[in-house]
Amino acid sequence: MSRSAASRADRRGEPPPSPEPLPAPAVDSHTHLDIVLDGFRTDEPADDAAVDAEIAAAAAVGVPRLVQVGVDVPSSRWAAELAARHPNVLAAVAVHPNEAGAGLAADDALAEIDRLAALPRVRAVGETGLDRFRTGPEGWAAQEASFRAHIRIAKEHGVALVIHDRDAHEEILRVLDDEGAPEHTVFHCFSGDAGFAQACVERGHVLSFAGTLTFGSAGALREAAALTPVDQLLVETDSPFLTPVPYRGRPNASRLVPHTVRALAEVTGVELVRLCDALTRTAERVFGPWDRGPTA
Ligand SMILES: [Zn+2]
Ligand SMILES: [Zn+2]
Repeated sequence: MSRSAASRADRRGEPPPSPEPLPAPAVDSHTHLDIVLDGFRTDEPADDAAVDAEIAAAAAVGVPRLVQVGVDVPSSRWAAELAARHPNVLAAVAVHPNEAGAGLAADDALAEIDRLAALPRVRAVGETGLDRFRTGPEGWAAQEASFRAHIRIAKEHGVALVIHDRDAHEEILRVLDDEGAPEHTVFHCFSGDAGFAQACVERGHVLSFAGTLTFGSAGALREAAALTPVDQLLVETDSPFLTPVPYRGRPNASRLVPHTVRALAEVTGVELVRLCDALTRTAERVFGPWDRGPTA
């Protein structure tokens, strides 16, 4: 998601309590800690101590590895800086498809994303892709041009691509097939059905499931997760959005990802410890090692 896409309805009420810790370390493959802590203000950077407390709360429930995702130039810089100073965090950098659709993926912005993508703890370009829900047809050409530019940046630096796909499944595959997908391509907040999951799996892409997996109405999503090989699965919060059941509608945070990991274990029939190990292995294959030994 992006700030401009954000609804305050996602953040009603008190942050939910932390769940029971996972039996083995897992990963939040997609978070926006800056938005979690800033309440959507873009003018003031989040306070380091508050950010560190949020990261420690995630580690305390078995989530010592996070990927902080940028949505524009300032938040991408912030993600890169956080990853450089905190061992538990790697960064992804991009201009979000809705920002691109609004004309914010100009050449100078893309040049800055390209510069950031070369940094050692920036391990993905994203979130990029297509959003046909928030962006109207007048922004689609700019959105696709930006998506193509981001794919090229990811390949140039040999880092993963993190895709935002909103109501654009077939179009995303068309662009990916046309450009040639990077070796590691992740569909963040996977939102397709079994047929689309199969198309992604066959291409070797990784499907990252968010709190939406726990929603009562998400039968098609659970079918998609069930057919995905365990080594092509990731789990994420997309916090502060998409809070899992039973806290839907309240603010999300990385420390709540165990709810989604447990739901994924149930859906796939993979035993919880084995699933946690697989999620960590897949995250390190896609994003590279967190290197400095995250605190568990
Ligand atoms: Zn997104
Ligand atoms: Zn996001």
